[in-house]
Amino acid sequence: MATAPENLRITYTTTADQMEEVHQYFDEALEKIRGEFGKTHPLVIGGEEVTADAEPNTDVSPIDTSIVLGKFQNGQLEHVDMAVKAARAAQKAWAARPWQERVAILREAAKVVRKRKFELAAIMSIEVGKNRLEALGDAEESADLIDYYAQQVEDAKGWVRDMNKLTPIETNTDVLRPYGVFACVAPFNFPAALSFGMSSAALVTGNAVIYKPATDTPWTGLKVFECYRDAGVPPGVINFLTGRGSVMGDPLVFHPGVDGVVFTGSKAVGLHIFHGMSQKWIKPCLLELGGKNPAIIMPSADLDMAAMGVMKSAWGLQNQKCSACSRVYVHKDVADAFVEKLLKLTREITIGDVTQKDVYFGPVISEGAIRTWQGAVDQAKKEGEILHGGERLTEGDLAKGRFVAPTIARAPLESTLFMEEFFTPFLAIGVVDSLDQALEESNRAEYGLTAGFYSADKAEIARFFDEIESGVTYVNKRTGATTGAWPGAQPFCGWKGSGSTGKGGCGPYYTLQFMREQSRTLVEE
Ligand code: NAP
Repeated sequence: MATAPENLRITYTTTADQMEEVHQYFDEALEKIRGEFGKTHPLVIGGEEVTADAEPNTDVSPIDTSIVLGKFQNGQLEHVDMAVKAARAAQKAWAARPWQERVAILREAAKVVRKRKFELAAIMSIEVGKNRLEALGDAEESADLIDYYAQQVEDAKGWVRDMNKLTPIETNTDVLRPYGVFACVAPFNFPAALSFGMSSAALVTGNAVIYKPATDTPWTGLKVFECYRDAGVPPGVINFLTGRGSVMGDPLVFHPGVDGVVFTGSKAVGLHIFHGMSQKWIKPCLLELGGKNPAIIMPSADLDMAAMGVMKSAWGLQNQKCSACSRVYVHKDVADAFVEKLLKLTREITIGDVTQKDVYFGPVISEGAIRTWQGAVDQAKKEGEILHGGERLTEGDLAKGRFVAPTIARAPLESTLFMEEFFTPFLAIGVVDSLDQALEESNRAEYGLTAGFYSADKAEIARFFDEIESGVTYVNKRTGATTGAWPGAQPFCGWKGSGSTGKGGCGPYYTLQFMREQSRTLVEE
């Protein structure tokens, strides 16, 4: 396989024209990974490959569920215990190394990711159902996240700071030190970027990590682990556990030997972890959770821009992004014109096998996701009106996978369709009379992750920024109303039910959360 030039960068906002030169590398990577289908993979604990007694989980592609991507171990309680033991044994030496050495290893991991980004992207495309741009963006973001967090350690010079003296004979120093062992639990939808983001911040600050990918995306998870291993992260400092969250999730996150949890996933599982975790003392619990992200469209908006921004954020990755736009509040004066433009763009979407060039919209991850989507469709039929979609797609090759139509419904503002996260291709549209009403409706949700706004009025824009209850806000963004955050550019902080710490990944305060402060006073008489 030819090696792609290092300067070939792809972000979520790369345009179709810029993509031309990357397709060849993607095709080659796809061919390569096809040769790896169907293998059985172990857990890796303390550097050792481990096989569980339980029947392994079969990982299939949602594009064609007859394609078996691999078989992955069904980790049990005993494997959690083994991993905690291995991580605790390895962590002290890792933390004791000069921070420059940890930074060098993590920077090497970023290089390995960049070298393998086409392979990572091809795997994500077939395992999650991401289109090429989304999959390559996920891989590219992974490398940037690792570098960004390594940079934070460098900038802070390892977080050792001289403090004031109260007497001439004392030396006071403030240090930030790692907590110890972090459980790192990842969701299916950004299986590389979120896994790398959470784990690299834990690692670079001196923690050991027990990493559990989602059961729907263990293959990408394995490749994440391999990048670290091949970059020189020592055995036991990173451990790879696959298995069902319902079986090994609680034993892992509530394990007395786990010092902290970094989790990205649903609000339900996140709250469960938060409530159960700190029994004897309070442990760090970094949660990035769901979203119900609104876009508001005002009369002065550029409606072509707004329709394009909403289309991209609603249908990118089939609305299975925490940042996806899942509700629109459009002013009554422009509602019909906006909806017409959005419908036109939605009708033009190409649907199918997203590993192929020029296919934009792929399958949803599971049959469970289809049931959730069907529930929203049924509710919309009762309470409002389906404007587009509403059916499962089974024509031709689509019957092999888990495809549903991108669905747009108009609904009354009091409908719970505007409040619940469905995480499937379902967009609710509500008509509002004023900015006041749009903001009030937006803020009524329990979630507060991302929000978009379209207006040409500076006073309205200022009010949106000040009054919207969301951690990530965008105004007049054509490439995505509510999506597209990037490390170092848009910190990704969930407010309210969308996160626990008030400091986001991709942001300048993220790594601090993996360490605790120690004050050191040395008296020399
Ligand atoms: P999920 O069902 O909550 O699962 C997330 C992870 O938690 C999976 O690895 C899952 O394992 C594991 N898990 C399940 N039960 C557990 C337990 N009792 N203890 C510990 N771990 C447990 O979420 P998902 O469906 O994968 O991802 C979609 C959700 O993630 C959405 O709500 C989305 O908004 C959110 N998300 C948020 C962000 C953000 O940055 N705020 C980013 C991406 C996604 P199994 O797979 O084995 O069940």
